[in-house]
Amino acid sequence: MQYEAIIGLETHVQVKTASKMFCGCATDFGAPPNTQVCPVCLGYPGSLPVMNEEAVRKTILAGLMLGCDIARLCKWDRKNYFYPDMPKNYQISQYDMPLCRGGGVDIKLKDSREVRIGLTRIHLEEDVAKNSHFETTSGVDFNRAGLPLMEVVSEPEIKSPDEAFAYLTALKEILVSGGVSDCDMEKGQLRCDCNVSVRPVGQKEFGAKIEIKNMNTISGVRRALAYEIPRQIVALEKGEKISQETRRWDDAPGVTSVMRTKEYAHDYRYFPEPDLMPVVVSDAMLAQIRELLPELPEAKRQRFMQQYGLPEYDAGVLVTDAALAAYYEQAVRWSKNPKSISNWVTTELLGKLAEAKLTIAECPIAPPQLAELVTLIDGGQISGKIGKDVFAEMFTTGKSPSAIVKDKSLAQVSDTAAIEAFVDEAIAKNPKSVMDFKAGNQAAINFLKGQVMKLSKGKVNPQMAGEILLRKLRGS
Ligand code: ADP
Ligand code: MG
Ligand code: ZN
Repeated sequence: MQYEAIIGLETHVQVKTASKMFCGCATDFGAPPNTQVCPVCLGYPGSLPVMNEEAVRKTILAGLMLGCDIARLCKWDRKNYFYPDMPKNYQISQYDMPLCRGGGVDIKLKDSREVRIGLTRIHLEEDVAKNSHFETTSGVDFNRAGLPLMEVVSEPEIKSPDEAFAYLTALKEILVSGGVSDCDMEKGQLRCDCNVSVRPVGQKEFGAKIEIKNMNTISGVRRALAYEIPRQIVALEKGEKISQETRRWDDAPGVTSVMRTKEYAHDYRYFPEPDLMPVVVSDAMLAQIRELLPELPEAKRQRFMQQYGLPEYDAGVLVTDAALAAYYEQAVRWSKNPKSISNWVTTELLGKLAEAKLTIAECPIAPPQLAELVTLIDGGQISGKIGKDVFAEMFTTGKSPSAIVKDKSLAQVSDTAAIEAFVDEAIAKNPKSVMDFKAGNQAAINFLKGQVMKLSKGKVNPQMAGEILLRKLRGS
């Protein structure tokens, strides 16, 4: 029997705001535990929430980028449960009136076909505190409690671990490009619950779904699904019945294991939050947010390929980060060689930035300077090899390439008389190679050419040097 997998993802994304969802506490990552807290996010009785409008606006922006219908009226609900990460015993969330419905994420399949994975909804809620368990004690850090969290729920339309990977990658790219979230997974800004079931091909009804909780890497999602799908199929083939349960993923052994079965399913007793007004999204507010809509990464990728004649790979690397794409476009404005600029950005520049642990915003080389370097190389003023040294110097000093070339006398020598002098010197110093060449050993010229480059410290135009050398060897 043939089986197929059905996957639906619930993705939690931390919305990028200066303050928390319902209080004024800071949202900076990495502060000492419980230093960014107040009575509201600690859940003290009697404290009152105040809605962060920026979080609502950014969630609407996400909805617009993903083609969702934006609710003109939505409300807040209490999701009731008891757990140390939420001392007021409820989380403020959105139940039956979320901010966004519908829409989708376009992904490219292996065979280059494009499909849209539909979204059910996007709602906004507050994050909960973070529990840590030590040897003999446990701790709760409330810095995370109350951070604005967007939940993006997909339709059960994802069919394979690779598609789940592509979906999350595309979603992340879109949200980052719009400034909705940094989606930094190492900081827990994007976390995902994977729902997965299998069914015999041809069967209409879905199988019972298994939910794998709290995945925090995109590759982890792919691996967990690649483990879980065959596990379910094997169980079915053995005649076992799969019943709905929640599982956890253990990354090291690469297996999932049971967390809780359906008997322990929560009943959250949702009811409307009495301390917050419903949200009215006005025409004016929607229009304002529409103005902020950026070009979507996929559209930008296509444009980069057409406008700058870049291969798909280059365009893909450049558009993953909106700031990197902007850097590239600024540099290109000063240059006649978009492909060469792309080569420098995607290899040397990204390499140096990673090495120095800098973001593109902190890049010491201004875009016009990179363009100038490419112009110097294309114009033959310096060789490509010296260009790399100049680049390294630009990166550490922030100086312009022409200043570095001038200060260090690195300009390529294209002056015939000067090259002839180096060639004469190489010939004079290496009589044996000259004899070898004359005796018919063609390869000897390569050694001599190497000597010319060495004598000139790599500065002579290699092609001219080769021509002059050949002329002299034949002529003399
Ligand atoms: P719950 O109330 O348990 O969270 P939902 O119906 O809200 O369940 O669905 C949660 C997620 O699970 C959604 O992304 C949905 O697409 C997905 N899903 C629902 N049913 C199935 C199924 N049988 N197999 C795989 N995924 C499913
Ligand atoms: Mg769920
Ligand atoms: Zn607070």
